[in-house]
Amino acid sequence: MAGELYRDVGVVLRTYKLRESDRIVVLMTADNGKVRAVAKGVRKTKSKFGARLEPMSHVRLQLYRGRELDIVTQAESVEPLAPMLSTLDRASQGMAAIEAVDQLGLEREPNPQLYRMAVGVLRTIAERPAPLNVPAFYWKLLRAEGLEPQLDACVRCGEGPPETELVAFDLNEGGVQCRACRTGGSVSPGALAIMRDIFGGRLHQALALDESPLTHEVGSLATRALEHHIERRLKAVAMFERH
Ligand SMILES: [Zn+2]
Repeated sequence: MAGELYRDVGVVLRTYKLRESDRIVVLMTADNGKVRAVAKGVRKTKSKFGARLEPMSHVRLQLYRGRELDIVTQAESVEPLAPMLSTLDRASQGMAAIEAVDQLGLEREPNPQLYRMAVGVLRTIAERPAPLNVPAFYWKLLRAEGLEPQLDACVRCGEGPPETELVAFDLNEGGVQCRACRTGGSVSPGALAIMRDIFGGRLHQALALDESPLTHEVGSLATRALEHHIERRLKAVAMFERH
């Protein structure tokens, strides 16, 4: 309800300027979904929030619930994630991860799993900027949305190895295809093996890989699959709103 104070924990997804010294902070919280809140005076050098509300910060908050925007009244750091993500490779991975969270999170619609996944991926990236951190995270987000790709048999005819080679991946159909049924883009056996590791409980194996053409292939497929899902969801929302 508007007017009440509440507490929550969250990850800062992005911030943008509002008026002279204030900022709007967009957070993925544990209990309140995505929250947009005003942090007053945050752009002054002596702000009481200091650097605690930078993107990728993990914070414990007290907020005042407004009709449109909430107001941050207190913020303290849960753990120093943002400084650990300050090197260039970590920062770019962290930003890619929270951008996806921002696109999937819905305002004021609780999604504790998405909050936990956001914290988890930032910790993983802080530990080691492995080339497959972000792609594996995208695939896990898609799985959390109920969209685990079919990787072991052709989505059209059901055939698979060893008799039938799987050569393509169709984003619309959400899985692999054999040569005869193929409508999607090429996928290599090596990339498929990595994806099976990611979905099959062998994530650590995938995250141990150094950068290679295969990690690039898995990464670009993950990006396209996530974009495809987000686009489709936006279209569905637009359609829903027209009626
Ligand atoms: Zn087939």
